[in-house]
Amino acid sequence: MTSLNSIADSIPGYDRNDMPVDAVHDFLAEMLAPVSGSETVALFDALGRIVARDVISPVNVPPHDNSAMDGYAFHGESLRAGQPLQLECIATALAGHAWSGSVAAHQCVRIMTGAVMPPGLDTVVPQELTRTAADGGIVIPADAIRAGGNRRSRGEDLTQGSVALARGEPITPAALGLLASLGLARIEVSRRLRVAYFSTGDEILEPGEPPREGAVYDSNRYALFGLLARLGVQVIDLGAVRDEPLQLEAMLRRAADSADAVITSGGVSGGDADHTRALMKQLGEVAFWRIAMRPGRPMAVGWLARGAGAERCALFGLPGNPVAAMVTFLVFVRPALLRMMGCGRTETPCLQAVCTEPLRKRPGRTEFQRGVVSRSQDGSLQVRTTGNQGSGMLSSMVHANGLIVLPHDRGAVQPGERVEVMMFDGLI
Ligand code: AMP
Ligand code: MG
Repeated sequence: MTSLNSIADSIPGYDRNDMPVDAVHDFLAEMLAPVSGSETVALFDALGRIVARDVISPVNVPPHDNSAMDGYAFHGESLRAGQPLQLECIATALAGHAWSGSVAAHQCVRIMTGAVMPPGLDTVVPQELTRTAADGGIVIPADAIRAGGNRRSRGEDLTQGSVALARGEPITPAALGLLASLGLARIEVSRRLRVAYFSTGDEILEPGEPPREGAVYDSNRYALFGLLARLGVQVIDLGAVRDEPLQLEAMLRRAADSADAVITSGGVSGGDADHTRALMKQLGEVAFWRIAMRPGRPMAVGWLARGAGAERCALFGLPGNPVAAMVTFLVFVRPALLRMMGCGRTETPCLQAVCTEPLRKRPGRTEFQRGVVSRSQDGSLQVRTTGNQGSGMLSSMVHANGLIVLPHDRGAVQPGERVEVMMFDGLI
């Protein structure tokens, strides 16, 4: 098993006390691999799961040439440049009812969208482009249409034997539709990742309890629950523990036994009452970092041993400050869990927007400021901050619709400059 130290040696820029954000990403990519195991589920249970094995198309989609319009099907070679064409309509082809008579060069078949093209016909003229002559013939005006137009070819969406959905693809609504279009009722997906989480701290109060002097309500557990539920993992809520070594140890052992990954919040910053660090080290192999980022400086990453065997569970020790916990989750833990889930797309999409206000920023750390992206009058995207960026201000996470990402080397931002924004949509 690769040790954390040997991974650290292979990561450019690794510095436990001033860890660049990119080095954290590299480290996690090196440390974590997809968990093994898959199951076959019905399509209605597959949304948000990850494809475990390439899906090979068993059929052509569409299965036959068909009409893209309501109109008249005919032989495209009958068209003459600069001349109208009059055709005699001899039959009707409806969707689901193939018509397979033969059609001469001066004839056509009335056809509906999705109906199979009658044998030999290659072109459809939309009904609205035609007129009916006094004798009942269908007239196509000169140059109204090109040969081959408005016909969908067999297999143009997917050909039989091709990869319709690749292993590692997340199953989106479109992917569900695609699978159904192949006639598949079930799909093999990676097994659901089990993620346990709990909060730590003597000051932590459970919502519903009466307020107490010096105590704060446990917000991290709820925010983490939401973030994890959105990821589609199996969420294991273990509650909260005091900064008390025996309780903490029992909780960490229980978490390691029940999950593929454990997320804690609080107690990793090295304060006096924080036993978490010592215990985590004792129960597995854990690296403690001070990350060159804001918010979210302290973080612990590593493995906890499971029972007495060689099995282990990934550990993410997040900072206690509520915004820092959410930001470190979004920036590091989410892609790491997606990787463990077997998902091939772990990058969070970003967009560019023009910043409307000056931002203070010093080179040498990555900053994530809570931003509100909107459309400016000329239609382009602009972003402002939510104001005070204190790392305990959860209200700013609620008001923001994304995180402005100011990279490691960047300095202050002037109004009018472009910045990257990691959008919350679909994540939060
Ligand atoms: P810590 O990382 O344990 O030093 O905590 C840093 C700050 O975050 C302190 O002000 C804690 O009270 C606060 N905090 C820690 N855990 C939570 C939690 N679960 N919910 C809300 N605030 C928390
Ligand atoms: Mg604490």
